[in-house]
Amino acid sequence: MVDSRILQIAELLKKEYPNPKTELIHKNEYQLAVAVMLSAQTTDKKVNQITPAFFSKYPNWESLANANLTEVQNAIHGVNFHLGKADRLIKAGKVVEALYGGELPKHFEDLIKIPGIARKSCNVIMQELWGIAEGIVVDTHVTRVSQRLGLTTNTDPVKIERDLMSLLPKEYWRNFSGAVVLHGRYICTARKPKCEKCVLNKICPSAFKCD
Ligand code: SF4
Repeated sequence: MVDSRILQIAELLKKEYPNPKTELIHKNEYQLAVAVMLSAQTTDKKVNQITPAFFSKYPNWESLANANLTEVQNAIHGVNFHLGKADRLIKAGKVVEALYGGELPKHFEDLIKIPGIARKSCNVIMQELWGIAEGIVVDTHVTRVSQRLGLTTNTDPVKIERDLMSLLPKEYWRNFSGAVVLHGRYICTARKPKCEKCVLNKICPSAFKCD
């Protein structure tokens, strides 16, 4: 069921963030996918610090598919959970090379089969690279902002995404995803949200009530 309040929220955010983009620095599809995989539980800033050297050493899926695990672990040492991420990056390289000829598949159901690319990553990659919104990106920022706005009471990202998708028409999903990520990062921050600067402060039930 479409909720009129979420439409108002989506429209206000669209005006504030008309063309939201990821802050993960990338030059091609491969680089964005790798950066998104590295960004789980890690800030974009930290990822951007290590990716230039990483992409020099591993410029494409083929180089990752043939990489040495310890060397990849060392190359991404600065990000959280680097051991598991290194393993999944190499596996992703092998899958993309073997199944998709070295290029990312454009269908959600194929993309999500690649090791290290879960639902959130699929949504980010598809929206950023091809403008396709099959869902709504739910990261730590979207979780927090959606809860404060009273759009969900869930804490599980899959359930939050389901709640948001049921409330908001599909044509808003792409902008809403990117806009809420940026809004959470810069305005509706985890501590001391800047409610006085927030375009949603007249319709947000949490306005001026968070620490
Ligand atoms: S009014 Fe405050 S709590 Fe509500 S969305 Fe804006 S910054 Fe967040």
